[in-house]
Parts: sequence; structure tokens; C-alpha cells
Amino acid sequence: MKRGRGWPIAAVCGVLLVALGVLLIAVVPYRPVRVEGPRIEPRPLELPEPLAGLRLHVFNTGANRMSSLLVGPDPPWRAVPAFLIEVPGHGLVAFDLGLSHEVAESGEEAIAPPVGWLMESRGRPGLTLEFQMKEDGLSPEAVQTVILSHLHGDHTGVASAFAHASFIAGPGTRSRFLDVPDAPFGAAPAPAWQEFGVGEEDRAPSTRLGPFEAVVDLFGDGSIHLIAAGGHTDEDIMALVNLPQGPVLLTGDAVVHFDWLASDDVERIASDPERAATIRNQVRSLAAAGEVLILPGHDLRRLRETRPRSDLVLHHPERFEPSFWPIDRD
Ligand SMILES: [Zn+2]
Repeated sequence: MKRGRGWPIAAVCGVLLVALGVLLIAVVPYRPVRVEGPRIEPRPLELPEPLAGLRLHVFNTGANRMSSLLVGPDPPWRAVPAFLIEVPGHGLVAFDLGLSHEVAESGEEAIAPPVGWLMESRGRPGLTLEFQMKEDGLSPEAVQTVILSHLHGDHTGVASAFAHASFIAGPGTRSRFLDVPDAPFGAAPAPAWQEFGVGEEDRAPSTRLGPFEAVVDLFGDGSIHLIAAGGHTDEDIMALVNLPQGPVLLTGDAVVHFDWLASDDVERIASDPERAATIRNQVRSLAAAGEVLILPGHDLRRLRETRPRSDLVLHHPERFEPSFWPIDRD
């Protein structure tokens, strides 16, 4: 598609509004954004029999830390994971790609303001997802599908390393991220882009699953259900993977970490605080039933307590620790 020159007025206004928002955040001290949200009745998941051979691989690509202006005092460094799912008949499916080469090289200096001012990010050259995959005998070219939980830079990784894949992301991603000047993905993956929940050719949510009301069975075999989320960003999607030894929910930043899940403070990072609280309560309802392993967008701590299982492969667990990454670098 041919793109116009320069920035449309709406984009310029958007940038100015974001800058104004950052300025306001910088002068107003942190106050929790407590939202109780609706009560969610527990509902059984009712998943089909799991596919034999379905397996989840967990990698970590770095560490990041949000500004205390956004999330309150003393925020810790947290993991920046990426996930791969082996789906019989559908090759490898990635869920989030982690940090980019640029951030691995230069940290938050590689991230344009205002995000670069509000989030510290650390990786290591040679340890972005595609390098770690090759190190462990998994080919990036075997990835047929990439699901992006949302389009923040700590989840979109090195998209060009997965040029053979179809990309799936949430509602509005095409108009807001692809059909704009300086689109983050360039032209390469755009032709293979599917937008969850919009349009006939895209993935329309057609069913419900447990507490979630807008869900699509990605391959029609019950292996991966995509779930409309929202709240952290408008385009959030989650994925429920029906592993043989028990289902796993990959939340992206719809659930940022377990402390966020336990608190009523949706913090200053929610694009829609009410929606964020609704999703949080849905995930809490699922967690209370105890049948599902929750894997948030930036928290791999629960995996340390998980019993070893053959359908869950932890790649270099020492890299799951933020201290593995250069977090002391100025
Ligand atoms: Zn994130």
C-alpha cells in the first residue's frame, strides 16, 4: 500500500497528547488507580481432550522496569519472556517475541520517548528470541504463526526473523500500527497480518470459554484459544494453551505480573482501567479454580514452583532471573 508523505494532523495531535500526558504524570506523584471491577462468576473451562504432542517452550529475552511514576514506589526489574508452542500439524506458534536487537544492544536508549523515559529495558546482544531458539535447535523459519499479545516494543521483538509466519494481533492493529508512517514492522509481515476480532477474513471471536466471553479456537482443534482482553492496551489478546498435562494461560500484559493480579490497583499503565479490572477479575476467577497455570506478561516466578512436566520446556531458567541481565548498567 502506498503511504502518504508526512504525518497526518490526527497523528501529530496524538503525539502532543501523549507528551502532555507524560508531563502531567511527571508532576503528579503516584497515586494508586484502584478499580474493584465486576464480580465474575466461576465457570468451568470445558476444554476438549488435549492434543498429544502439544508442548510449550518458555524463553526469557531480558529485563525491564517501569518508572515509579507509573506503577508506584520501588518497582522491581521483571522478566521479558517469549513463548513457543509446538502444535502438531501447525508447526511452531510464537506468542510474543520479547525484546528487539536495538534494545539488546543499547537498552532503553533505543526506545523513542516517551516510552524510553518511562521504562528501563535491558537485554544482551545475541540473546534475542531467534538466537536463543537456534542455540537450542529450534528454527525461527519453522514458526508458522506469531501471536502478538499487543504491540508494545517489549513484546514485538525481531519480527523480521519470522518472515515465514503469519502474524496475528488484536483489534485495531492494522489501522493504528501498520497503515501509518514509520510502521513498526515495515512492509514484510503486513501482507500476512490477521487482526483478531475484526472483518470476515480475520479471526472473529465466535464462542466463550470459562469466564471469557469473546474467544476463537485458533486451529479448530482446541489446542490454542485466543481471548479478547484489552485494558492494558486496546488491542490486548491472551492465549489459552490446552497442554496435555494441564492448560496454561498466556496473558501478555493484560495481566502484567502476579502482584498486579492480586491488587485492585490497575496502575497508571492501563489504557482502560475498567476493562483492565474486568479482565483481571476474569483471570482471578480462573486462577481460583486452580486448574490453569497463569503466565503473565512479565513474571516467570510461578514457574519455579511448578512441578516438572514434559509438555513445558524451560529454556535456560537462569536467564529468567532479572539479575542475569545487565540491570546495573547506567
Ligand atoms: Zn510488556
